[in-house]
Amino acid sequence: MTNPTLTQLISNPSCMDDYDPNSMPVDKARQFIKQYLDPVAETETVTLHQSLGRVIAQDIQSPASVPNYDNSAMDGYAFNSQDLNTTPLKIIGTAFAGKAFNTAVASGECVRIMTGAAMPQGTDTVAMQEKVLRDGDNIQFTEAPKPRANVRYAGEDLQQGQNVLSAGHLMQPADLGLLASLGIAEIRVYRKLKVAFFSTGDELVAIGNPLATGQVYDSNRYTLYGMLSRLGVEIIDLGAIADDPLQLENTLLNAAAQADVIITSGGVSVGEADYMKVLLSKHGQVMFWKIAMKPGRPLAYGKVGNAHYFGLPGNPVAVMVTFYQFVREALLTLMGQPATNALPMFEVECTAPIRKLTGRTEFQRGILYTDTAGIWKVKPTGAQGSAILSSMSLANCFIVLDENVGNLDAGTMVQVQVLQGVI
Ligand code: AMP
Ligand code: MG
Repeated sequence: MTNPTLTQLISNPSCMDDYDPNSMPVDKARQFIKQYLDPVAETETVTLHQSLGRVIAQDIQSPASVPNYDNSAMDGYAFNSQDLNTTPLKIIGTAFAGKAFNTAVASGECVRIMTGAAMPQGTDTVAMQEKVLRDGDNIQFTEAPKPRANVRYAGEDLQQGQNVLSAGHLMQPADLGLLASLGIAEIRVYRKLKVAFFSTGDELVAIGNPLATGQVYDSNRYTLYGMLSRLGVEIIDLGAIADDPLQLENTLLNAAAQADVIITSGGVSVGEADYMKVLLSKHGQVMFWKIAMKPGRPLAYGKVGNAHYFGLPGNPVAVMVTFYQFVREALLTLMGQPATNALPMFEVECTAPIRKLTGRTEFQRGILYTDTAGIWKVKPTGAQGSAILSSMSLANCFIVLDENVGNLDAGTMVQVQVLQGVI
């Protein structure tokens, strides 16, 4: 794909022959967004604890070998493998984790050894204590180990100087332990992404207030708060804004002045009170799409000043689906994680029939479960309307049905994206 600027694309959509804002396939929308994502450049140094969920801004080489000495993988007896056939062996001492046995071990001798203890000089093999008969200070094998068995050798996990993590890596629990095992206390990470969001709509009421007929509680700001919290970004909640051009304009400009990313919900379709479109044309370069998907048809992406802008639909399920399909991936890229970061997909059997039209991608809410034989299968949560937020609470996955798929019989294989651990 060529890379027109946003301004070129908006003022002259025909500069790309396959660009149709009114029928935008999901994958194509993702590719378009990807072209304009410039990751944060600033970095900061944080402690290992603080690095969880952050993207690292440096390659990390191992300053030492891990483990850095040969040690026992078992509780047992350390000896030299040349003595495998010369039992009994005489126990001449004990080696503990953190308290080495410092005398050389000669032929015919062994050392009682605990898991993690350094292998005494002259030994290369450990016999598990369960496979040894002990008689006073002597042992015999009931089952002889293989030479060099039950020993964790220096450098077996990591060699000194080896690259252990690369810039762009999102820090996970295992990485905290890995860096701790190397004695690394602080690392350089990209600064946190600042994400501002607000809801739009005259009908929205803040929780804690009574509802009049025609009003709804503003739930989108809560799902957005939850989803953004899981991504570890800095959250700027700008509230629920009425469908009033001036208030919307002030809030939009306030967001653009302080955030890297602005997310709004509602007001991007073409209803009478949908002022966002006019405002965004005035203050930004924003593309308005009708995505060939359900739920989540209207979607806007572009820039307002230096901030990236995502205009999500108003319906509560559509907000979550578009967040997971477009925003999550883009935020990870902006956070500095360069790798492909789309939600993984895999195929399982769907045990209920599904009604679906071709020509659009559907993200049905699904429940992955194990059948009586212990095999993982999926079924839809039930009613799939884009305002039925309980379907998202029930779901642990999306059932992803692409544009070519029509009605499905029970027993068909379908693609799923697991949401557990993601939301
Ligand atoms: P809109 O895209 O603004 O036309 O909104 C579509 C639907 O989503 C309407 O039924 C709205 O009432 C509803 N909606 C919009 N924003 C929110 C919100 N923040 N919380 C709950 N529902 C919303
Ligand atoms: Mg609205």
